[in-house]
Amino acid sequence: MVEKAKIAIQRINNDDVKTAVFTALKMINADHLMTKEGMVILLKPNLLMAKPPERAVTTHPEIVRSVIQWLKQYNPSKIYVSDSSGGQKPGKTENAMKVSGILAVCEEEGAECIPFEKSEREIYKVPNPLEMKEFVSSNLIKEADLVINLPKIKTHNQCVLTCCIKNMFGTILRSNKAKTHAQFPRLERFTSALADIYSVSNPQLTIIDGYLCQEGQGPSGGDIVKLDLIIAGYDGVALDTTVCKIIGFDPKEIIYLEKAEQKRLGTTNLNNIEFLGEKIEDVYKKFKHPRIAPISMPLPKWLGNYVGNKIFKATVKFDSKKCKLCSTCWDNCPGNAISPPSELRKGNIPKWNKKSCFTCYCCVELCPHEAVNFKINYVKNALFSWPCASIILILALIIWFFMIF
Ligand code: SF4
Ligand code: SF4
Repeated sequence: MVEKAKIAIQRINNDDVKTAVFTALKMINADHLMTKEGMVILLKPNLLMAKPPERAVTTHPEIVRSVIQWLKQYNPSKIYVSDSSGGQKPGKTENAMKVSGILAVCEEEGAECIPFEKSEREIYKVPNPLEMKEFVSSNLIKEADLVINLPKIKTHNQCVLTCCIKNMFGTILRSNKAKTHAQFPRLERFTSALADIYSVSNPQLTIIDGYLCQEGQGPSGGDIVKLDLIIAGYDGVALDTTVCKIIGFDPKEIIYLEKAEQKRLGTTNLNNIEFLGEKIEDVYKKFKHPRIAPISMPLPKWLGNYVGNKIFKATVKFDSKKCKLCSTCWDNCPGNAISPPSELRKGNIPKWNKKSCFTCYCCVELCPHEAVNFKINYVKNALFSWPCASIILILALIIWFFMIF
């Protein structure tokens, strides 16, 4: 008989994060992972960018604090808290650690807050790769006796959801993130790469921040939802599937889950999951979907790709009132599709090249001033697509034929 993946769903009552974290970990008997004294532990929160905790972009510092306090009961020798933020410029992760409140928590609790890019480098071979054969990351992944994933529940413009599997994209070093997007421009390949990246660290334990979440246009510009949940378990695929059920999304539209299951990293089958604590229906809260999502129509793959890349192709828009010409978008666009305006003057906006853009939405995600958005003009895209143009041409020829004869 297949052993079921244990998942604890625990409410955070009256903002008492610590009790919720400790209760959830007790429900899944997480203490069995603490096999000896002096263990080296790596915590991987979501530190996408420098935003304060109330903006719900980064893992909440009180969750990081509670996990550190839980670990300290077992006398580890070292607790590292690490991530690599988005954006090419040096100092981005340090700044995110500071502004998110996670650095202060680490200092108070005696953990070491260190950006992945500041640790030693290591080349990791991906087991049974779908797309990515190897990548460079921090040696801390290898050095740690225990890797604990601390993702946050947020909607995601490109991948629909970011939580357990997507959070480990942070193990790709800051300067290599854009390259990875450029290497796998299509969602099909990018999501395979996400499963590959996750498989390297394959965290032994995951504690999900479902305290303050983002819905709609996440992962940085979405609306904040106070979900008040801690969800803990060992199987990241089962945990992401559970999150989908809680927020009313279909796990089938999260392509990286299919890829991760294909790599045998976990299960999306609810029958193979043992739920502890709250029932999904009791904590259910429908989240607003991100405006764009990979289409999940029952079409042949080539046609689905065509429709997704042409008809659903978004136009990136810049808000001249919000844009501070900070250069983040053109410095980090993996497709080199954004360039600065001819004059760096207030009111001017960056230039965008539709042909080079492969709609990864890094610009939307990374803009610190929420000045980048996108629009999809389905009708215009359809009219300028070759099947539509061919139909119009054929119809015109038929009409012309009947008019002549
Ligand atoms: S759109 Fe955003 S990221 Fe780009 S230059 Fe303006 S403020 Fe910076
Ligand atoms: S313009 Fe934006 S969406 Fe397009 S490739 Fe660049 S970062 Fe990605």
